[in-house]
Amino acid sequence: MRWIKPFAIGALSLALAACTTSPTGRQQLTLVSDAQLDQMGAQAFEQYQQERPTVGGATHRYVQCVASALVSALPPRQRESQNWQIRVFEAEDANAFALPGGYMGVNTGLLKVARNQDQLAAVIGHEITHVLARHANERVSTQTATQLGLSVLSSAAGLEGAGGQQIMGALGMGAQYGILMPFSRRHESEADELGLYLMADAGFDPRASLALWENMSAQGGARPPAWLSSHPSHGQRTQDLQARMHEALGRYERARQAGRTPDCPRP
Ligand SMILES: [Zn+2]
Repeated sequence: MRWIKPFAIGALSLALAACTTSPTGRQQLTLVSDAQLDQMGAQAFEQYQQERPTVGGATHRYVQCVASALVSALPPRQRESQNWQIRVFEAEDANAFALPGGYMGVNTGLLKVARNQDQLAAVIGHEITHVLARHANERVSTQTATQLGLSVLSSAAGLEGAGGQQIMGALGMGAQYGILMPFSRRHESEADELGLYLMADAGFDPRASLALWENMSAQGGARPPAWLSSHPSHGQRTQDLQARMHEALGRYERARQAGRTPDCPRP
């Protein structure tokens, strides 16, 4: 059994390469390289834009203005780590998504629920931090480890065929799920926390995050949208945000004093 030793060393180096730490200090399983996943994100974004109508003009400028203010508030290394882009899609459901590589989308339906630039910043800030915390990589890696097998990844140079479709599904772009498969609660809580601080650092009023989730919850009514169902409960989410509001308001004040006063006209 002489092969056991090299195999064990190989498995160990895979395990080491696959273990990263999220911005909140949590251990993560990330089996896919960032470059590989960014490429998949770009392809998925391209495909998505071919399949659904986008909106330009003042609406796009508004969303772009909020996204740019948030991205400029990131530390340079994080800012430069992604190819940040955002598009507005003509769709009634109040949804938004972010793909590895920094490719983001916001539905027109969301712009009715997020009623001002600060509420919109709460959504986009949340999406940006999903990207920076490598949540998609973690989800793809977990699903790969449990269901797909590593061979799928090595053959997934393109997104054609069954393997590619499984990867797309893991990225959250599977047709059967509509726009976006929900992230886990743990990922949602992490994105809420980091997104709250990011919006404050960019000079958006962090208290708007509470109003946003209030609107979201009211809009869902008795039957919340599917992607909300795996999110933290409304009460839990509000409680967590309130617990961090003091710190967030301090950051907001410092950002305003430093001249970060975003003014994005809502069409
Ligand atoms: Zn989320």
